[in-house]
Amino acid sequence: MYLKRLELQGFKSFAHKTVLDFDPGMTAVVGPNGSGKSNVADSLRWVMGEQSLKMLRGKKSEDVIFAGSDKKSKLSMAEVALTFDNKDRRIPLEYGEVVITRRLFRNGESEYLMNNQRVRLLDVVDALLRSGFGASNYAVIGQGTIDQMIMAGPAEVKNLVEEASGVKPYYLKREKTLRRLEQTEENLSKVSALLMEIEPRLKSLRRQAKRMEEREAIASELIGLQLQHFGQQFYVLETELGIVTDKFNQKIRVIKKLEIEISAFQTTLEKEEKQTERSDNFLDELEKKLKNLEDRKIALLEQLAEIKGKLKVESPVTKNFSEFQQSFEAILETLRADNIGEVKQKLRDLVLVFGESKNGELIKQQQELSVLIDQIVAETNEQKRVKIQLLLEEKQKKNFLTAEEKKFRVKNAELGQVKDELNSILVDKTRIDTRLEALNHEARQALGSKFDDLTPHKRADGSVDVNRISKLKHQLELAGGVDEATILEYKETEERFGYLSAQSQDLSQAVVDLRSVIEELDLIIKKQFDEAFNQISEKFVEYFRILFNGGQAKMSLLKADTESAEGMAELEDEAEKTDHIDGVKQKKAASQIVGIEIRATPPGKKLATIAALSGGERALTAIAMLCSMLACYPSPFVVLDEVDAALDEANSIRFAKILGTLAHQTQFITITHNRETMRQAHTLYGVTMGDDGISKILSLKLEKAEELVK
Ligand code: ATP
Repeated sequence: MYLKRLELQGFKSFAHKTVLDFDPGMTAVVGPNGSGKSNVADSLRWVMGEQSLKMLRGKKSEDVIFAGSDKKSKLSMAEVALTFDNKDRRIPLEYGEVVITRRLFRNGESEYLMNNQRVRLLDVVDALLRSGFGASNYAVIGQGTIDQMIMAGPAEVKNLVEEASGVKPYYLKREKTLRRLEQTEENLSKVSALLMEIEPRLKSLRRQAKRMEEREAIASELIGLQLQHFGQQFYVLETELGIVTDKFNQKIRVIKKLEIEISAFQTTLEKEEKQTERSDNFLDELEKKLKNLEDRKIALLEQLAEIKGKLKVESPVTKNFSEFQQSFEAILETLRADNIGEVKQKLRDLVLVFGESKNGELIKQQQELSVLIDQIVAETNEQKRVKIQLLLEEKQKKNFLTAEEKKFRVKNAELGQVKDELNSILVDKTRIDTRLEALNHEARQALGSKFDDLTPHKRADGSVDVNRISKLKHQLELAGGVDEATILEYKETEERFGYLSAQSQDLSQAVVDLRSVIEELDLIIKKQFDEAFNQISEKFVEYFRILFNGGQAKMSLLKADTESAEGMAELEDEAEKTDHIDGVKQKKAASQIVGIEIRATPPGKKLATIAALSGGERALTAIAMLCSMLACYPSPFVVLDEVDAALDEANSIRFAKILGTLAHQTQFITITHNRETMRQAHTLYGVTMGDDGISKILSLKLEKAEELVK
């Protein structure tokens, strides 16, 4: 990788587009004072991202834009493009050539481009840093600033050595890690504080939750036992109810049967009773008939008696009648079945004989009455027979009815008994129902939502331990109620505590890891720095002796006096002053080395501090330092702006030789008035400025350059 081309346009005195091509090795830029040579160096700094106005020798950003001259008006934009040969891919981009461009407009707008792609400043800085240089403190050494390399103090010297050794990226990494560590430690302490805050509450909540868990266990056992207990009781009662219901149904069936039977009896009896009623009426009529018959008989008998009386008083019929009677009876005596006709004739004759008598009329009446009476008697007898018959029948019927009634009563009694039994069964049933209802109520009260899990069952292993149930109930009462809010808070707090604990663990682990990363980085830094220091300090001594043609020099490490508070304060001051990323902590860590002290004693002198050196001696010492660094850790390119200005000819020659050697590894662009330096250069550019105030570049031969310098 090397610097291939520099293109300027509108940058400071380079108003026109100006191109400088470079080869590896050394390029010298020469020209009269004020021609714009240092502006070339400035343009290099600027395009590589330099932000310091002081370094750019300006007061405002826009000071880098061509400000105009008598002959040319000011420009609105400055642009510098730097082309690197990147065949070795030191810049980690897949391009054989990398062009970095920076533009600034007067309106303040600015932009960076890498191979014509707009990028951020950060990308430019990063790409250059990765390639092993960049805005390093010695990539562009400004005019009259070479001695600053050693005069800026031990910390700055140390910083330069670190930069050269390539240890800086590790410092950056360490710094980042350190920040992460600080952040992590801060987070850890916040998390720890939160954990400490939560822990007592969590403990209290845990105790409460434990009590609730125990309560839950008691409640669960109680519910289990109660489910068994009630299940068993329900089983017993429901079994009893089943039996009673069966009995009830059976009785109902019997009752129905009896009622049907009784109803049949009733129908029969009612029918019979209606018939009896009819018989009674008939008898009554019969009775009336008999009475009539009797009355008529009496009346007839009275008529008969009257007739008999008449016969007795007024006629001798009675005598004749006696004779007649005797004859009549004699005839009756002969009365036989076979001579009934004859008898009947005799009787008729007799009656005729009797009727022809004087009293015959009366007798006839008497006879007629007697016949009538006989008829009535016969009738009466007939009616009596009928009556008796009826009465007999009645009696028979009554007997039948009594038997049926008896049966009816028996059935009724039976029905009554069954109904009584049914009532008693109903009482039992009601009692069981009541008990079931009470049990249901009790179980609902006791089981709550678990009531639905209740199933009546028969326990094989005997009854439930009721004492245990009472004991558990008592324990539950003592345990108190369940506070859902507490449980919720416990869960949330527990979760939060768990989350924070895990976070705390992660953070603790991260702290350990980050510390170990820092330790590892410290080891690398220390190893690399020590190596760099040893090599550079050795080379420094060598170059010093070459440049001074003798004398003595020494680079030594300055360690922090961390034992005393003073030392610490010093260290902190130092860190503040240096304005570098390596703060106090880093200084402390990197073996407590706070700087590199340079002691230089030119030949034949007795000097201890560099402050006592002359300007040329300081420049030589600084050059020795720069060369030792470049020899050990070659930089891709270095711009030297009149670093040799203060050197006498002999020293200039020695310096030029050293540069010539180093130019094999490092590309030098050196702005110089020094002939020796020019002679070492492979390419020479002359910078001129006419009366238009615009710098121009000329490619020169050495002779021409020497002329230009004159
Ligand atoms: P020396 O050899 O004395 O160090 P030099 O060649 O290094 O001189 P520079 O410092 O590079 O000179 O250039 C200084 C010149 O550049 C001055 O004449 C100054 O007016 C001119 N200059 C600086 N900034 C601008 C600008 N923005 N616009 C125009 N000209 C500028």
